[in-house]
Amino acid sequence: MSALHYILTRSRRKTLAIHVKPDGAVEVRAPLRLAKAEIERFVTLKTDWILKKQAQIAARTPAEARELPPLQYAQGEFGQTVRKLITTWEQQLGVEAAFVGIRVMTTRWGSCTAKTRRIRLNAALAYCPRECLEYVVVHELAHLRENNHSPRFWAVVADALPDYQERQKTLKSLSWLLCAASPTS
Ligand SMILES: [Zn+2]
Repeated sequence: MSALHYILTRSRRKTLAIHVKPDGAVEVRAPLRLAKAEIERFVTLKTDWILKKQAQIAARTPAEARELPPLQYAQGEFGQTVRKLITTWEQQLGVEAAFVGIRVMTTRWGSCTAKTRRIRLNAALAYCPRECLEYVVVHELAHLRENNHSPRFWAVVADALPDYQERQKTLKSLSWLLCAASPTS
C-alpha cells in the first residue's frame, strides 16, 4: 500500500493522472470504475516523482527561489530508507506506528499524533542528510513513548541518538527548505 496521502477524484476520463497542487497536496484523477488496487499501484510507481515535486514546492521561498541542494537519494531510495529507519527504530524503542506518511509541511520536519499513532515526515527531508532524517524518525517515534517534550522525552531521544543535538543543529541550518512553502505566507 502507498504511504502517500492523496485526494482521489473520479470522472469519465480514460486514464490515470497525478497532479501535485501548488500547496503540495496530491490529487489522483482516475476513471470512474478503476479498481483501488490499480490506483494504489500507480501512485506507488510515481512516488519518487511526487516526492520530488513536493520537495521543490517545500523549498520555494517567496522572495527568491533558492537552488535546491542535490537530492540525497537515488530513485526509489528515499521511501526505502524511511521504511527501513521506521522498522529499525520501532524495534529499538519498542513502539509501533500505525501509519507513516510523507507530505509537505511548511513549519515542521515531522509530526506525530500519539492517539492514532500516525507519523508524518516532511518530503523536504529527501534533501537533508540521512542523519537528519534518522533524527526526525526517532523524535516522532519517541512521542509514542512520551507524548510531550518533557525531560523524559528527551532522555528517550538522547538514549537512542547520543549526538541528537548535532543533528538538530544541521536540520536548523536547513530550515529554509521548509519555510514559505505556503503560497500565502
Ligand atoms: Zn516533538
